[in-house]
Order: sequence, then C-alpha cells, then structure tokens
Amino acid sequence: MYAFTFERPSTIADAAKLAASGAKVLAGGQTLLASMKLRLSNPGTLADLGAIKELAGIRKDGNSLVIGAMTRHADIAESDAVKTAIPALADMAGHIGDKQVRAMGTLGGSVANNDPAACFPSAVLGLGATVQTSKRQIAADDFFLGMFTTALAEDELITAISFPLPKRAAYMKFRQPASRFALIGVFVAQTDGGVRVAVTGGGNGVFRHKGLEDALNKSFTPAAAAAVKIDASGLSSDIHASAAYRANLISVMAQRAVAKA
Ligand SMILES: Cc1cc2nc3c(=O)[nH]c(=O)nc-3n(C[C@H](O)[C@H](O)[C@H](O)COP(=O)(O)OP(=O)(O)OC[C@H]3O[C@@H](n4cnc5c(N)ncnc54)[C@H](O)[C@@H]3O)c2cc1C
Repeated sequence: MYAFTFERPSTIADAAKLAASGAKVLAGGQTLLASMKLRLSNPGTLADLGAIKELAGIRKDGNSLVIGAMTRHADIAESDAVKTAIPALADMAGHIGDKQVRAMGTLGGSVANNDPAACFPSAVLGLGATVQTSKRQIAADDFFLGMFTTALAEDELITAISFPLPKRAAYMKFRQPASRFALIGVFVAQTDGGVRVAVTGGGNGVFRHKGLEDALNKSFTPAAAAAVKIDASGLSSDIHASAAYRANLISVMAQRAVAKA
C-alpha cells in the first residue's frame, strides 16, 4: 500500500467534511483495502465510518425497513426484524461471499461500490428502495448509473437505505464458484406498485428487466417467466460465461425466484 492518513470521525457531518476535502470513506474495506493493497487506489486520507454509531442498525419505520449504511451483511442475515419483514433480504445477505466477508462487508459499501456482480444493488432496485444520503434521498431507479457508478457526489455518504415491504420477494443467484459473486442474480418482488425484477451480473451494472416485469404482472408464475425471451445483446461475455449463457441464466434464475417468493 501507499502511505495514507487514517481518520476516524464520530459524526456524519465530520465524515462528510473529510470526504469533501478529498478523503475516501472506509466501510468494511472488503473492496477498498484490497484495491489499495494492489495499488489500484491511492487515497491520501481514509475516513473510517466505523465509529459513527448512528450509521449502523435496523429498524422498522411504518411500512418500510430502514437499514443503516454500516450494518454488516452478517447482521442483516441474522436479524429477526429482517427475516420477518423481508426474508429475501436476509437470505441474500446470508449468501454473500464467505463468513469473513459477511462479518466485515456493509450494505452501504456494497451499494456505493455498485460492483456489476454484487447482490445488494439488485435488492435495492428490485424492492424500489430509497437511498438516504448525507444530502438527500435518492430513489433506486435514479441511483445506479452503470458499473461502479452511482448518483452519489464525491462528498456524499450513504447513511441508510429504506426498503418498502413487498407482498413477496425472492433472490436467486448463480454463484461464481470462487468468489460467490453473482454470475447472474435475479431479484423478484411483488410490490404495491407492481412486479419489479432486477438483474445483477449481466455486465454493465444492475438493471430492471421490463419483459419479465410485464409477464409477471399478468401472471406471477414460473411458467410466465419461462415464456419471456431474454435478449443476450448487451450482456457481457467473459472467461466465466458467454452472453447467451448469461441470458439463459436470467430466465432460469427468474423462474426459480418466482417459485421461491
Ligand atoms: C472474497 C469476496 C467475496 C465477495 N462476494 C460477494 C457476493 O457474493 N455478493 C456481493 O454482493 N458482494 C460480495 N463481495 C463484496 C463485499 O460483500 C462488500 O459488499 C464490498 O466489498 C464492499 O463493501 P465494504 O463495506 O467492504 O466497502 P469498502 O470496501 O469499505 O468500500 C467500497 C467503496 O464504497 C465507498 N463507501 C463505503 N461506504 C460508503 C458510504 N456509506 N457512503 C458512500 N460511499 C461509501 C468506499 O469509499 C469505497 O469506494 C465479496 C467481496 C470479497 C472480498
């Protein structure tokens, strides 16, 4: 690693001030520290969010579940409140990476990073959640702008994410066997505003699949999902899977998610 200054602010305002002066915020470090070790990232200052108590925690707020940005994947997976309100979210968190990654990785870090194969962005988009930041509230549909890119400004922190409770929902992923990231992951939710389907692992970041949403709005059945032809153009081909294989996985994961929801 290159040398850096380490700060540990205790308020969101102080963390935002540090970010505005060029510091990089540190959450679970599962991506950021690895990229620093590889010298792909070279922040002059790290602002560790770990001492800001109000950033972690899970609470029910009316018809929504609000989860703090610094809440670890393991805490989401094991939370009775999450298991009761949105079991699909607890199930997703429990299948991220391995035990060590789940013990350190955070909801906010995952969503801010917006890795194109990450799981949580598909839950945020699939449930039509709202990202709460140090400056404003951003609807999921306006938040994800393509791989590793979000609507966050340089000095803007995610403070929490508010998930409206769905009627039912499920997430299915076909794991990349080494990392357990999603080769393809599909989050399906029946919400008050209709069915939402979010796909991760396709290449250029998480996206909604209108064809699947239309079909599942008419009939929320695996057969209806199976009848939708998935276009492979725009999906990535790499050493792990061709675009055609990924397109088939979207269909299969969608069918399984509907069956599970
Ligand atoms: C071996 C391995 C396997 C993994 N498997 C999976 C998997 O199966 N599914 C999956 O979804 N993910 C997986 N991950 C990713 C992991 O779960 C973390 O979610 C991810 O690495 C980022 O979260 P973090 O809390 O560690 O963030 P960090 O690495 O600390 O930060 C990541 C980025 O987000 C920024 N950031 C962090 N918090 C905030 C905030 N509150 N506001 C604004 N910006 C912020 C940081 O500045 C940095 O740019 C895996 C990671 C590893 C190392």
